[in-house]
Amino acid sequence: MTGPEEREKRVTDRIRISAKTLGAVALPDFCPRCFWIRLCVNDKLPFQIFPGIFSSIDSYNKRIVHRWFDRHGGPPPWLGGLGDIVGYREPPHFSKFNMVQEEFNILLTGAPDAVFVRADRSHLIADYKTAKHTGAQDRLLPLYEAQLNAYALIGEQCGLKPVSGLALIYMEPVTDDGAADQDESHREDGFVMGFSANIIPVSRDEGKLRPLLARVRQIHDLAAAPAGRSGCKDCGLLHQLIQVAGT
Ligand code: SF4
Repeated sequence: MTGPEEREKRVTDRIRISAKTLGAVALPDFCPRCFWIRLCVNDKLPFQIFPGIFSSIDSYNKRIVHRWFDRHGGPPPWLGGLGDIVGYREPPHFSKFNMVQEEFNILLTGAPDAVFVRADRSHLIADYKTAKHTGAQDRLLPLYEAQLNAYALIGEQCGLKPVSGLALIYMEPVTDDGAADQDESHREDGFVMGFSANIIPVSRDEGKLRPLLARVRQIHDLAAAPAGRSGCKDCGLLHQLIQVAGT
């Protein structure tokens, strides 16, 4: 394909992007060069290692909540901070949870961790985070806010209308000396570690999404990778790697 044809194709291509990847555009240290590369390889970057323990905890977290609802007819006490929750819905699979944003021709996908039903039959969408809510997590807040707002947008087109609330639920590991000293923390085959919920409400603000979607379209349509973030040491290392590989 020639340069102009390639360019024409990029401009008319439908972009497929997850709500989380869209959220990355909102981060203060966002790099358009990295993002252009991610879009070129459909987000399948090499050298990515994600420890399996987090997805095990995530899936156990969901089952713990759902089983409590099933047995007691309401939310576990530690989700009391979510308000008038009366039920839950199985979170939709990403193959069924998507929408086309026509203005920028972007297929937005997602897979929320939790969908709760409120007393007025509206929905609250939540994401679990296995982490302590610290300053480092605040740095990621713009990403999470955009991700949850994208879930709300998709949800309202995929059977969850209306979405009246969004929340981050930090499941914070309880690892202090008090917990380590307790006999209940010990079992025949190992030990028990608790998690304590810290609920952070997120405001609905779809206005946040349009500039992010516009930026995705603009970066995607560039014929060549834009400049990277200034002062990024990784880019220097990458440059060295390419030089070594070329020798
Ligand atoms: S500047 Fe850094 S963040 Fe951007 S492309 Fe290079 S390595 Fe990636």
